[in-house]
Amino acid sequence: MDSHTHLPIPAAGDATAIEPCPVPDCTLPVDLVLVSKEDKCISAHTVNLGLFSNGFPPASASGELARDGLGSVERVQLEETADVLMLLLKFMHHAHLPDLEMHPFQTAGVAEAAEKYEVFSAVALAKVYMKRRAKYKSRSLSLDDAAEVLFYGLKHGYNDIADDVALETIDMPLDRIVAQAMKAGISSHHILQWVLYREAHQRKLQRILVWSRCKKDSKLYFHVDSMEVEQVPCTQWARLERDMVGSFANRPGSIFEFASAVSHYGDYDENFDYFDDEPENFLMTCDTCKGFREEWVRYAREIADPLCGLSLTRMTLSSLKC
Ligand SMILES: [Zn+2]
Ligand SMILES: [Zn+2]
Repeated sequence: MDSHTHLPIPAAGDATAIEPCPVPDCTLPVDLVLVSKEDKCISAHTVNLGLFSNGFPPASASGELARDGLGSVERVQLEETADVLMLLLKFMHHAHLPDLEMHPFQTAGVAEAAEKYEVFSAVALAKVYMKRRAKYKSRSLSLDDAAEVLFYGLKHGYNDIADDVALETIDMPLDRIVAQAMKAGISSHHILQWVLYREAHQRKLQRILVWSRCKKDSKLYFHVDSMEVEQVPCTQWARLERDMVGSFANRPGSIFEFASAVSHYGDYDENFDYFDDEPENFLMTCDTCKGFREEWVRYAREIADPLCGLSLTRMTLSSLKC
């Protein structure tokens, strides 16, 4: 019997319209309606939910029997969005599993719901996808997306995923990430680890940025530009320093880019368009400044390199000493 046929035909724009089962051509009887966070109703089958998940829908969810026009189909209110529920339901059929790559905006939600309701086929696939997202696509993640991947890793004990994506989250303001972490149910132990992890990078970045200020070499600031005909005091170092401090000071997550940015900055190279949209770019002509710039690059690499081995999930107070 195809119970889809005895459901009322949804009218366009009707908020109470019931979406059919998301699996195409599914003929299983619909005896349950899942109501999403945004109050969308989706057809489901109790037997499949019992077979493919553990405790879905949860006993705590509010359910009511809706009899008008639907026989005695139970409706259950859930916290997940309709997009996430539709995908999750596809994992609870004897059918091809959906390709999560095609749903980048729903994957984190599916991953979370899969863990929550123990839909193991979705747990495994979502984990693979989240791992790949943390490792290879991290550069294209927004701060909030990166935080979502981080929380997923921390919450479910996937330390490799958390460690792979951690660096992408450290430019996030502390109040914002803590608020989001608490909402996501992240433990205070892990929140402290995140704070220590960021502090380690911030301290090293500070050391790099103040390198010239600590260097006892008056030639840094007071020398003449050899290219100038009139041998005027050179201002190029001050200019480079100001630009570098200005663009890196509040971005501890960019510490590994610093050395290459300094080594290129100010060089005129028509094949190198990294700073094309940087109106402040200038032509560094002074050999003395170039020499100091190379020293700065070496120092930045020396300071930043040991951080590569630092992992968020192994952070302790003593890690700050390294
Ligand atoms: Zn179905
Ligand atoms: Zn100079």
